[in-house]
Amino acid sequence: MKALVYEGPRKVTVKEMPDAKIERPNDVLVKITTTNICGSDLHMYEGRTNMESGRILGHENLGVVTEIGKGVERIKVGDRVCLPFNIGCGFCKNCERGLTGFCLTANPGVAGAAYGFAGMGPYSGGQAEYLRVPFGDFNCLVLPPDSEEKENDYVMLSDIFPTGYHATELAGVLPGESVVIYGAGPVGLMAALSAQIRGASKIMVVDTHPDRLKLAEKIGAIAVDDTDGNSAERILEMTGGEGADRGCECVGYQCTCKGHEVPNATMNNLIKAVRPTGGIGVVGVFVAEDPKAEDELAKKGQVALDFGQLWMKGQKIATGQANVKAYNRRLRDLIAAGKAKPSQIISHELPLEQAADGYKHFDERAEGWTKVVLKPAA
Ligand code: NAD
Ligand code: ZN
Repeated sequence: MKALVYEGPRKVTVKEMPDAKIERPNDVLVKITTTNICGSDLHMYEGRTNMESGRILGHENLGVVTEIGKGVERIKVGDRVCLPFNIGCGFCKNCERGLTGFCLTANPGVAGAAYGFAGMGPYSGGQAEYLRVPFGDFNCLVLPPDSEEKENDYVMLSDIFPTGYHATELAGVLPGESVVIYGAGPVGLMAALSAQIRGASKIMVVDTHPDRLKLAEKIGAIAVDDTDGNSAERILEMTGGEGADRGCECVGYQCTCKGHEVPNATMNNLIKAVRPTGGIGVVGVFVAEDPKAEDELAKKGQVALDFGQLWMKGQKIATGQANVKAYNRRLRDLIAAGKAKPSQIISHELPLEQAADGYKHFDERAEGWTKVVLKPAA
């Protein structure tokens, strides 16, 4: 099969790879029809993780079931399914509680497994013609009859829509509250959409890219350009000096300030811009070590946090991978009902063959490259 292979920093190639196949009785084999490039792929693409060369990337996957293992009961050949980026077993202590981003058995020794992802187990990604889905009955989200027509909406259920929602859940957004979101990438934009769904009264999205901020405005948020680095002060002004009720971090450890990576920039801005006793949800990825960081602390996975401020303000911080399965069913039904349209942020739809080009432009945050979806079957 054709697949996109990571070959080293900023080098990905579409080439022939061994076909994905059923390996265990509870596996499902999916022919991929849409697979996205994610901001998480960029950490790997840039060589800022311990991703091994030779592996297939891609964790935002949707397709048609072409084969099922002997032990699969619920999923049938021909089902159109969207796969959460996290692989859960369904029966461990965490999966049982809905915390499928922290499955304890799919990637023994680490809490959490995913397709084509550094440190998340040996599973191949879906930027390919076929994908092996472990624990198929548990992991496949079956899509409704309009799944072809709304394919570009439903594919966002694999990651960024539930992840944006998770950011608002971790922050504790309630109807009528104000929310500040750092990052207007795909995840931040989905957090803005989710804050709308949850009934926020005021949504402020911070970034430096005008094209991305425009999309935030389209979703109904107030755009805050942080080119001058004064966004936290502006959020305070916009909230009567008090601060936003809730904050979402949708950038991660490679966040920048005036063109340089400053790993504590977004977190300390959030501590400043959120009100006393407010909540901060952090879905932007932070890593346990980052040997290629410029910053000495960041090399060891540490962040110089304004902890005294946080403590004085009595704020809460919650973090981690999104438990996609905790939300994807309900968000699917919002799409089906025409009440959410996450595909609105897609900028490029490319055949798999052009994936390397997609990576290059998305990685450069080139103007107009917001979200790339790949079509292996095209
Ligand atoms: P992206 O890189 O396209 O978007 C990040 C945005 O943040 C960019 O638009 C950038 O301009 C902006 N930014 C950089 N520094 C900033 C700063 N100091 N203040 C405000 N904005 C700043 O990526 P994405 O796809 O939107 O993903 C965002 C993060 O979420 C990544 O770290 C990704 O790995 C992570 N992620 C986490 C999960 C999860 O389950 N927790 C799932 C998907 C993605
Ligand atoms: Zn992703």
